[in-house]
Amino acid sequence: MKNLLVQKYGGTSVGSTDKIKNVAEKIVSEKRNGKHLIVVVSAMGDTTDRLVDLAHEINANPSPREMDVLLSTGEQISISLLAMAIELLGEKVISLTGPQVGMHTSSVHKRARITGVDDKRVINELKENKIVIVAGFQGLDENRDITTLGRGGSDTSAVAIAAGLDADKCEIYTDVDGVYTADPRIVADAQKLNKVSYTEVLEMASLGAGVLHPRSVELAQKYNIPLVVRSSFNHENEGTIITTDESMETAVVKGIALDQDIGKISIMEVPDRPGIAYKLFSMLAAGNIHIDMIVQNTNRAAVNDISFTVADDELQDALDISQKFAFDVGAQKVEFDKGVSKLSIIGTGIVANPEISSRFFETLYNLGVNIHTISTSEIKISVLLDKHLAKKAMIAVHNAFELNQ
Ligand code: ADP
Ligand code: ASP
Ligand code: MG
Repeated sequence: MKNLLVQKYGGTSVGSTDKIKNVAEKIVSEKRNGKHLIVVVSAMGDTTDRLVDLAHEINANPSPREMDVLLSTGEQISISLLAMAIELLGEKVISLTGPQVGMHTSSVHKRARITGVDDKRVINELKENKIVIVAGFQGLDENRDITTLGRGGSDTSAVAIAAGLDADKCEIYTDVDGVYTADPRIVADAQKLNKVSYTEVLEMASLGAGVLHPRSVELAQKYNIPLVVRSSFNHENEGTIITTDESMETAVVKGIALDQDIGKISIMEVPDRPGIAYKLFSMLAAGNIHIDMIVQNTNRAAVNDISFTVADDELQDALDISQKFAFDVGAQKVEFDKGVSKLSIIGTGIVANPEISSRFFETLYNLGVNIHTISTSEIKISVLLDKHLAKKAMIAVHNAFELNQ
């Protein structure tokens, strides 16, 4: 659709009724500039966290389906309030939930994936000259059950809609001025990046930079939708533009990411024979557990130790499965560690540059950091380290690569 703008406002941006009124004014002025507007919103402030706490006051282990019914209510509050604020400013507007816009997803509750967006309803509303406000983070599966897309998933709702309707761009409004070289709340002198590639941001987001939901960057790249990340409070700053790679050959560190919410599982003395890894990881896959770093040590003749990491919130499920696996194959025991974090440096081509890895490891050595695990890809080097040293290490590595300049 021509002249279509998709905007997304995060939780802080709609964190109070005053903030909602400000956002409404901004949307209306954009509309009066002649744009068709679809606006995706998150739940107000820390609503989603409060809903999670509420659930756990009732049941320590609620079913994922009921969690989704609960969590999706947060966004329903903010879309209706925003629509009311826009009504008052005299523009035609309608709020729609995920199911109402036809946001189809897989059935994996709490981390469903969007399978398609049925755009008929939205197009009809836009044709009636309405501003369309859409609840982020939620959809509907084949059984007409409400699903959610994983924490931070409203970004992905916005990009999916932008891609479905072939929007010119998707603007993500948040509480920082753009994508920085590191989380500005941890590294005070982190610098805002004016332009960065999908590939680099995808890596940063996947490695713990919470500014964008990783899947949103993946979709934006796939459908070639330019993404703009900018502040909903500071209108002067133009934010960060995320588009295709331009400088593939430059081997420089673009950013540092830290994921503090990591769980590590080690299965000790697993019998050394073909099919063992297959059995373990297929059991974990069947439980929808996302595995990250994997290490296998062959330390004694007939047995191995296998370690892997998972997101903190999947640790318990992963442990249950690992224990069953250990029992089935006769491994000695299962251990876990919640006190680890993953620190990564990201930049196109960096792994091919030995000077970069050497400087990274030297900086960690100077801090007395003991590295548990290392993993690399074309554009990143990640290490697992003790959580209590992680922020200090992030700041030191940021300095070592002169990202503060
Ligand atoms: P929203 O509610 O708008 O979606 P989020 O809290 O999900 O906002 O994302 C914004 C936050 O992401 C920032 O407040 C910042 O602390 C964090 N963040 C982490 N890494 C980065 C980074 N590299 N650049 C910018 N922000 C980052
Ligand atoms: N409200 C959801 C969350 O807090 C989705 C989002 O903000 O993107 O995770
Ligand atoms: Mg977010």
